[in-house]
Amino acid sequence: MATTTDFDTIAAISTPPGEGGISIIRISGEDALKVISKLYRGKDLSKVASHTINYGHIMDPENKEDIDEVMVSVMLAPKTYTCEDVIEINCHGGIVATNTILQLVLSYGARMAEPGEFTKRAFLNGRIDLSQSEAVMDIIDAKTNRSMKAAEGQLDGNLSRLIRTLRQQILDVLANVEVNIDYPEYDDAEVVTSNLLMKNAKDIKEKIIKLLKTSKQGQVLRDGLATSIVGRPNVGKSSILNHLLHQDKAIVTDVPGTTRDVLEEYVNVRGVPLKLVDTAGIRKTEDKVEKIGVDRSRKAIQSSDLVLLVLNSSEVLSDEDKKLIELTDDSKRIVILNKTDLPQKINIDEINQLIGEENVITTSAIKDDGTEPLEEMIAHLFFNEGIQSSQADVMVTNARHVSLLHKAKESLNNVISGLDDGMPVDLVQMDMRDCWESLGEITGDSYNGELLDQLFSQFCLGK
Ligand code: GDP
Ligand code: ZN
Repeated sequence: MATTTDFDTIAAISTPPGEGGISIIRISGEDALKVISKLYRGKDLSKVASHTINYGHIMDPENKEDIDEVMVSVMLAPKTYTCEDVIEINCHGGIVATNTILQLVLSYGARMAEPGEFTKRAFLNGRIDLSQSEAVMDIIDAKTNRSMKAAEGQLDGNLSRLIRTLRQQILDVLANVEVNIDYPEYDDAEVVTSNLLMKNAKDIKEKIIKLLKTSKQGQVLRDGLATSIVGRPNVGKSSILNHLLHQDKAIVTDVPGTTRDVLEEYVNVRGVPLKLVDTAGIRKTEDKVEKIGVDRSRKAIQSSDLVLLVLNSSEVLSDEDKKLIELTDDSKRIVILNKTDLPQKINIDEINQLIGEENVITTSAIKDDGTEPLEEMIAHLFFNEGIQSSQADVMVTNARHVSLLHKAKESLNNVISGLDDGMPVDLVQMDMRDCWESLGEITGDSYNGELLDQLFSQFCLGK
């Protein structure tokens, strides 16, 4: 289901900066038609069918002077790139005409799009498959200024519940310790107590570690899973990228003058927000035959959470391929053997030896073969391995929470090592208590004296 968000109307030049036959100015949002109607001389665009191209002129409404002869594409929601109403003005290009039209569009109701914003909207408004998608959407949404509170509230609600359970567990242990200290005549009290402390400290520590693992996932949900596509020239990187984008024109260029390096592209692969790293480099190869050298790949790999390494299976493995395999050895990696439609020359045994069989996928980008399994694998890697926790509905996304969890874990480490070193129980329990307090700071439940109050009210045992 498409979830559409209320956004303002944005515009930008969508063709690469510089000289070209035509330039395209893209407008997206509720007011797209309203904006173009003020500037367009030709048919009544509010009456034309969706997904039509219309010939006419752009004029300056102030003096009614024509600025350029144009073709205007009218694409109405929801079947558009952003799932919003989209207008594309194909004008004659040249920096002056293009910018004049953009300026008019901006003065008549649209806002300048941020780099990547169309793509971001496409993602935000996009079709979603997985159950986690709602939280994903909310958080990504929040990043673009909507309902961060709601998203956090939902996640934190579950988090708070889990934290409170852990705190109760600690409380129970501490109460027991207290009782044993109060009744020292009780046989083996010290041994029983330290065993109890040890068992619970380990158990709680494990749960905290699990929680901490989700913080990576939470961060990814907020920022996107930084993903790079690397491989030798011509192995099929752009083709695979285009399949992931499901849209050939998905690139969003900024206005001339701003650097292309800040461009961010997001693609929503089955609920996983991929933030694509250095696609400018990949796309450039199409027109400029500029090669992405190993150095550039190295940079992309280093700043990625996930690397898609593309190899051409119709050729034998080259030294450059081997270098890239080596460079990505420590990354979370999917190896794509592309061009399976051609006679196969790659040595599968060699691949298996270098990479293993896991996370290798075969595709023919030209036949759109294997791209579905690729998407599945990406989603699987994200949701089911490594960064996935067993408590899928509890996720730590907040840096303060993360640091408090680390602190709580430290205290538990002290409990464990203290017991190992034969420290007296009444000293060790101080660390357990610190853990309890750190956890309480997450939920806001900790305050001075609370521990004693609670112990007293719950476990005074008739004294
Ligand atoms: P890049 O340089 O790695 O981005 O590679 P491209 O995606 O630009 O592809 C290079 C060439 O290989 C183009 O001519 C593509 O049409 C072609 N190509 C890409 N994928 C396949 C494939 O699976 N099979 C075949 N036969 N050709 C492909
Ligand atoms: Zn496809």
